[in-house]
Amino acid sequence: MTVQAEAVVDLDAYRSNVADLAAAAPGAAFMAVVKADAYGHGLAPVARAARDAGADWLGVATPDEALALRAAGDVGPVLCWLSAPGRDWAPLVEAGVEVTASSAQQLEEIAGSVRGRARVQLKVDTGLARNGAFGAQWPELLAAAARAQAAGRVEVTGVWSHLACADEPAHPANDAQEQRFAQAVEEVRAAGLDPGLRHLANSAALLTRSSVHLDLVRAGIATYGIAPGPGLDHDVDLRAVMTLRGRLAGVKDVPAGTAVSYGHTWTTERDTRLGLVPLGYAEGILRAASGRAQVAVAGRRVPQVGRICMDQLVVDLGDLPARPGDVVTLFGPGDEGEPAAEDWADAAGTIGYEVVTRLGGRIERSYRGD
Ligand SMILES: *Cc1c(COP(=O)(O)O)cnc(C)c1O
Repeated sequence: MTVQAEAVVDLDAYRSNVADLAAAAPGAAFMAVVKADAYGHGLAPVARAARDAGADWLGVATPDEALALRAAGDVGPVLCWLSAPGRDWAPLVEAGVEVTASSAQQLEEIAGSVRGRARVQLKVDTGLARNGAFGAQWPELLAAAARAQAAGRVEVTGVWSHLACADEPAHPANDAQEQRFAQAVEEVRAAGLDPGLRHLANSAALLTRSSVHLDLVRAGIATYGIAPGPGLDHDVDLRAVMTLRGRLAGVKDVPAGTAVSYGHTWTTERDTRLGLVPLGYAEGILRAASGRAQVAVAGRRVPQVGRICMDQLVVDLGDLPARPGDVVTLFGPGDEGEPAAEDWADAAGTIGYEVVTRLGGRIERSYRGD
């Protein structure tokens, strides 16, 4: 490692997670979700690795992300699902991207802005109260879709929804959403449309609820080797894809009673050695984890101490004979004794998703297995 701070993305681990997850939903097609720059892992290399590992579909949130996949050379099935009004849909349809309509207005905007026939999937809100047609919006969307399909402007290729509590398998909302979804599929048929691909499962549901695997599963976080939530019981052996590490920019021996970093929120209790790591909240290191996270140096866990700053953070090396330039691993698969991204999430009171998607700033990304 020659740089100050880097995120190493292990594409072998990613491909192996994708293959194992796909095998855990054997009857369903597999969508690798690569939105948000592949959860901070880098869109283009991760997308290629997903296809190599057999992903049938790639999923992204926004139309621009779908176009970025095409610009990166991906030619396979892609679905996007989140757009504010006013979009020109023609470039997406020409690029062979499937798009999602969550309301009659959105469907009409899609149908009206394309020359050929747009391939559209219909999103129903079955109880997340987020994106998707809810209540009376749903029959309106179905009617608009039936009209546009009859006029040759769209082809309905799927119907789908998203779960609110999949990471809590026993939560009653899961059964309720599954039932509401089955009913919504019947309503698609009753509107004279073929539902096409029916899908409902994210990573957590893929791992814990085979009754919602249906025709396709949409897996994001688990493909990156991060648990969708704490304590989920499942058989798939996932390996963390990203390792975040930096090199000690400085080391100093300080006496007991030395207060550390802004606000002097932490004070050494004994003579010790402090290490300075050139990573901070400008890189997306969560400031809320200040004083509660750990890192690994030379195979040993040591605590991060005091407030995490914009560009740097301090670790208490104790009696470790560490020197400037030594590697400090913040999180990764655990091979060098380092914590997991989930441990940083716990320290900051958040979820593993936020730990990896926020990374940026001056971190350089490098790839293994590309
Ligand atoms: C992000 C997202 C997913 C993937 O969720 P994970 O929990 O990361 O597996 C699936 N479907 C939709 C609609 C999403 O927005």
